[in-house]
Amino acid sequence: MAKLYFRFGAMNSGKSTAMLQAAYNYEERGHRVLLAKPAVDTKGDMGILSRLGVTRDVDFVLTPDADAYGKFQHHRERTIKRFGRDVSCLLVDEAQFLSEAQVDDLLRIAILENIPVIAYGIRTDFQTVAFPGSRRLLEIAHSLEELKTICRCGRKAIFNARKIVGIFVFDGDQVAIDTSIEVSEAGAREVTYESLCGACYLQESRGVLNNGRRRWPIEASAAPAYTTEPDPDFT
Ligand SMILES: [Zn+2]
Repeated sequence: MAKLYFRFGAMNSGKSTAMLQAAYNYEERGHRVLLAKPAVDTKGDMGILSRLGVTRDVDFVLTPDADAYGKFQHHRERTIKRFGRDVSCLLVDEAQFLSEAQVDDLLRIAILENIPVIAYGIRTDFQTVAFPGSRRLLEIAHSLEELKTICRCGRKAIFNARKIVGIFVFDGDQVAIDTSIEVSEAGAREVTYESLCGACYLQESRGVLNNGRRRWPIEASAAPAYTTEPDPDFT
C-alpha cells in the first residue's frame, strides 16, 4: 500500500527544490509523476519556483473548492493515454494552502489508488499557528519528515516571521505571499519572510506566540488563562 508523506520545513528550507529533485529522480528511471499545487500560491502561476533557479510547470492547480481526487484521476488518465504507463507518484507543492478536504483526498489517493503522494509545505504561519492544510497533513500523513534550514543565529529555524518593508510584524492576515505587495490604508508595502528559531522569534515578538490567531481559552471557565501579551522576559 502506498503512503502519504508530508515533508515540512520553514521557508527557505528548499522544499520546492527537493520536490523538483524527487520528480527528476522518478523520471530518470522512466517513471511518470504528476505535480500539483494550490491556486492560492501566486508566486509562479502554474510554475514551481525553486530558489536555486530551477523552474517547472505543475500538471494541475487546485483552487480552494477543487475536487483533488477527481483532478488527479483526470490527469492520471491523460498520462496513461499519452505515455502508455501509469503515474508513479503525485507531488504537491505549497501544501499548507490545501483545504482539509483536499488533504483527505491525498490520503485516499495513496490508499485507494496505491500511488504515493508527497506533499511539501510549511507547518505554521507567521503567528506560529498551523495552516489548515498542514494541520490536516500532520494529523493523517503516514510519514512526517522535516526539511531543515538555519536561523540567522545558526540554530534550526522552525518559524516563519513576516516582515513588511523589512520590519517584523506579528499581526495581519494568515496568508500574504512573500514578495507580494500588501495594499492597506497605509499604502502598498512589500511582504517578506525570515525563518527564525524559537529563541529569535520570541526575541522579535517580545515573547508573543499565536498573536490572536487562535482564540484561547476555548471554554473560558474550564481552561487556564492564555495570554498573548508581551512576556516581560523578552522586553
Ligand atoms: Zn535564531
